[in-house]
Amino acid sequence: MNDPVVIVGSGLAGYAVARELRKLNTEIPIIMLSADHGGFYSKPMLSNALAFGKTPASILNNDAVQMAAQLKIYIRPYCRVATIDQSRSMVTLMDGEEIFYDQLVLALGADQVRLPLQGNGVAKILTVNDLDDYQNFRDALTGKKRVSIIGAGLIGCEFANDLAAAGYQVDVIDISAQPLGRLLPPAGGAFIQQKLAANGVFFHLNTTTQTVDQVNKQFRLTLTSGESFESDLVLSSVGLRPRTQLAETAGIQVNRGVVVNRLLQTRFANIYALGDCAEVESKVLPFVMPITHAARALAATLAGNPTFVQYPAMPVMVKTPACPTVVSPPDFSVKGEWNVEADEEGVKALYQDEAGNLLGYALLGAATKEKNNLTAQLPPVLM
Ligand SMILES: Cc1cc2nc3c(=O)[nH]c(=O)nc-3n(C[C@H](O)[C@H](O)[C@H](O)COP(=O)(O)OP(=O)(O)OC[C@H]3O[C@@H](n4cnc5c(N)ncnc54)[C@H](O)[C@@H]3O)c2cc1C
Repeated sequence: MNDPVVIVGSGLAGYAVARELRKLNTEIPIIMLSADHGGFYSKPMLSNALAFGKTPASILNNDAVQMAAQLKIYIRPYCRVATIDQSRSMVTLMDGEEIFYDQLVLALGADQVRLPLQGNGVAKILTVNDLDDYQNFRDALTGKKRVSIIGAGLIGCEFANDLAAAGYQVDVIDISAQPLGRLLPPAGGAFIQQKLAANGVFFHLNTTTQTVDQVNKQFRLTLTSGESFESDLVLSSVGLRPRTQLAETAGIQVNRGVVVNRLLQTRFANIYALGDCAEVESKVLPFVMPITHAARALAATLAGNPTFVQYPAMPVMVKTPACPTVVSPPDFSVKGEWNVEADEEGVKALYQDEAGNLLGYALLGAATKEKNNLTAQLPPVLM
């Protein structure tokens, strides 16, 4: 038997490439190595699961045994890769076991960034980046009423909406003057802030968390603004950092993510990367749609038909039912400006160049109905 395609990681990226490769070739041996349980679930569900009454068990679509049978692959859960020896085409697991590969796919994901905060409660700040984290979060919520969220980005706002809908009192803290500061122009930020506030979310903006102290069973947060308040639980969602260390120690080029070309190939011909860990042509895009496109191209390449990844425009739905929002973030390195129409029903913000070409958009409330029409006018992200 030939050495297998070894996929490291069982997130959406690892599974997408395994599934696409199986569609093209039923014979190639595939081994998936995963540091976690190896089951398949949709990670985006984690930030709106409370509102849908979903439990960690009901979010899991299939466990590793079921997935292995379905895709006819070998899956090794709780199996962390410690090193890659590219010269021998081999990975070593934490227990020293060596596994040889014909082609290696890194689908390692990203870690939640942790801010350097002070206080004796910092170690108890939660993050939710996978199903096990979500189980911890659910357990920690039992009997609690007030939750603080550090970070008003996409994931912070989604959790804020979900928690408020489930009856929790929610405080959100962000250094920016508005929620979703990296994705929305000010009018859009003001609109979503107002809608979430109307649903019980309290924003502390233009400030950062300085100290998180544990006081009995509660936490006391002190902000740089001087404000201080108590909370039963603190959730941090201030961004993601691609997991690059494994690649870096193997001599693979890393920058913000694992650097790959448009074949998703690192500087070593039989080592590839995709998903949240990867930097494709200088772009780190930690979303589902890029994974879908990358997985199709990579599967074709792995099956013997080298194929460049192409990204069309890929709008992202923000899962805040209190304020339907869809964004297609422009490449801000391209010169343009926001043109905004706003009223009580919604916000339509178009990022356009001097000639009026549409480069990106943000649609909130009633304006979200224009999504399809506007998406058709957007340039591809990578062609
Ligand atoms: C709460 C939340 C909500 C989101 N909502 C949306 C949304 O609405 N829309 C959207 O487009 N995107 C959303 N995203 C982003 C999207 O979920 C991610 O882009 C996607 O799931 C990343 O998949 P991945 O496979 O690259 O990484 P991951 O899912 O992180 O998987 C990485 C895998 O690698 C394994 N691993 C890591 N290191 C090793 C090692 N050394 N050895 C073995 N295994 C290893 C891990 O155990 C894991 O199985 C959301 C993310 C979060 C956290």
